[in-house]
Amino acid sequence: MKKVLEAICDLFFPLPEEDGGRWLLQEPFCGRCAQPFHALDSSPESCPNCHGTACHFDHARAMYLSRGSVRDMIHQFKYERAFWLRRRLVPAITDGYRRFYDGWGHHAIVYVPLFSKRERWREFNQSEVLAEGLGLATGLPVLKALRRSRETTVQAKLDRVARRSNVRGAFDLTDTAQVVGKKLILIDDVLTTGSTAGECARLLKKGGAAQVDVLVVARG
Ligand SMILES: [Zn+2]
Repeated sequence: MKKVLEAICDLFFPLPEEDGGRWLLQEPFCGRCAQPFHALDSSPESCPNCHGTACHFDHARAMYLSRGSVRDMIHQFKYERAFWLRRRLVPAITDGYRRFYDGWGHHAIVYVPLFSKRERWREFNQSEVLAEGLGLATGLPVLKALRRSRETTVQAKLDRVARRSNVRGAFDLTDTAQVVGKKLILIDDVLTTGSTAGECARLLKKGGAAQVDVLVVARG
């Protein structure tokens, strides 16, 4: 059965590189949040997503844009419990790390937690699966530093302002000692406005983290 699923995975979800690199995130994009935009410079001040907003992470990077086969794959992974798609998504997050953050001296990996009820339904946390895969590939420890303290509406259904208030206060830091002075990689599957990653980064920084750099599979 497993072999059959893997064969289906290879057939229907070729890695985007095999698909001509069609959905790779390409410059120019914002130096902070990786939003693609055309301007004379790529500073956050010029970025339509960052301009005028407080941002708590230091950088965010994505391997791909959330389009076409990449978006479909992430959607199936999360909403149709297609755990077998980790075969495609773990290499994608690892490639993203090597492409953007190799040699930056990060100490550990953290990930965006799911509320327990949603994780029970899905049977896994997609961000944790990606973080564990990246940990195995890089040798960096994966810290269970964050916990979701209340249920939130799915961010994809909300506009920019509602996304921010939806996640405000939705997370707790489980153990401050783990993050003090650390340079962290924060893993999620997709980054759109950056509200969820920003709220996690705010807590990690409040707990003493020295740097929080976000890495996702795809930029929404
Ligand atoms: Zn930006």
